Amino acid sequence: MMNTPTKIHPALAHFAVVDDCLQIGGMALTELAARVGRTPFYAYDRGILDARMAELRAALPNGIAIHYALKANPMPALVAHMAGLVDGMDVASGGELKIALDAGVPPAAISFAGPGKQAPELHAAVAAGITINLESFLELDRVTDIAQRLGIAARVAVRINPDFELKASGMKMGGGPKVFGVDAEATPELLRRIGQRGHQFTGFHIYTGSQNLRAEAICEAQAKSFQLAYRLAEHAPTPLRELNIGGGFGIPYFPGEKALDLTPIAEGLAEHLRILRDRLGETTVIIELGRYLVGEAGVYVAEVIDRKISRDHVFVVTNGGLHHHLAASGNFGQVLRKNYPVVLGNRVMTGKREQATITGPLCTPLDLLAEKIEIARAEPGELVVVFQSGAYGLSASPRAFLSHPEPVEVLI
Ligand SMILES: *Cc1c(COP(=O)(O)O)cnc(C)c1O
Repeated sequence: MMNTPTKIHPALAHFAVVDDCLQIGGMALTELAARVGRTPFYAYDRGILDARMAELRAALPNGIAIHYALKANPMPALVAHMAGLVDGMDVASGGELKIALDAGVPPAAISFAGPGKQAPELHAAVAAGITINLESFLELDRVTDIAQRLGIAARVAVRINPDFELKASGMKMGGGPKVFGVDAEATPELLRRIGQRGHQFTGFHIYTGSQNLRAEAICEAQAKSFQLAYRLAEHAPTPLRELNIGGGFGIPYFPGEKALDLTPIAEGLAEHLRILRDRLGETTVIIELGRYLVGEAGVYVAEVIDRKISRDHVFVVTNGGLHHHLAASGNFGQVLRKNYPVVLGNRVMTGKREQATITGPLCTPLDLLAEKIEIARAEPGELVVVFQSGAYGLSASPRAFLSHPEPVEVLI
């Protein structure tokens, strides 16, 4: 029977397989591994990043600005590459702000969201002239003090905690009591104070959730976000220049999950843009995406160190694991552990297959890369590949745990 890569997982459709070896950035995985010089490593494919952005631009109506949320993958070379593709970036810390500025993103195209922004971060943000998405009344006071001391006007937007949520999201970040943003009902008062302080008001940021594969749920949240923005715009000190309606576009990780259908989202947005032009004028509508832009472009590669049989069960022990890739191990917010797509990169489809559990070298049963999967029989020295690893990989992992060497990251 002929196996096709996409039968293993739809994510493999982005990658070519030549002589049964996975190709990354036009190079065989084995050649790439030699070039990197050691394992484990993360590899991000520029061609896949470019293709994803081109598809998204083609699908969405003109006039929607696309921002990259650095939190998904802050590798400086990748961020610099993304800077040439997107219309702006959303940062969530002073460290991410530095990476975005270093990458050459114009300050006016950077926004900074996140609770508990600290004084040095706010200083840097005001001084750089980026947009600060205010998350509390106290934060407005701090920004006002800093702007006065620096003698410049701060660019501020309000992050609103909406009175609705994004249904069926991997992570909900709006609706109900939340640490994120200012409750919609308190927003008119915050807007009044912004008007008194001489800041440059840019608009609203409404972020409802993350990792959503249901287009209808995203459409519904977007419709409600526009309604909320119209309601609150009446209280704004100046017209809205920008309306950031969040993102939440998910990617398929687990068996049975399907890629997000952009068509209904694009149709909904085209309609919202028409109404927005009548109601607010020249407001720029922004969507901000992290994993959707970069998640499928990255793989994590670990080397097989040992092969053990324990009571008829095959364990393939690698030098990679949860210390580098917490999400693939199932310990980054998953309720029920499920396998990321994993193959043997140098023998993707052929070779004698078996059921095996792929582990890391850590002394904890949590250190799994894949549990009971069908995979080519792996021998020491061969390369295990974890797909869908371009987002929330290395930067979301407890690298110091067990003091193993850091993995390498390459952009090809
Ligand atoms: C985490 C986050 C994002 C990115 O989420 P993805 O699921 O990677 O698209 C965008 N905006 C804000 C405010 C976030 O906190």
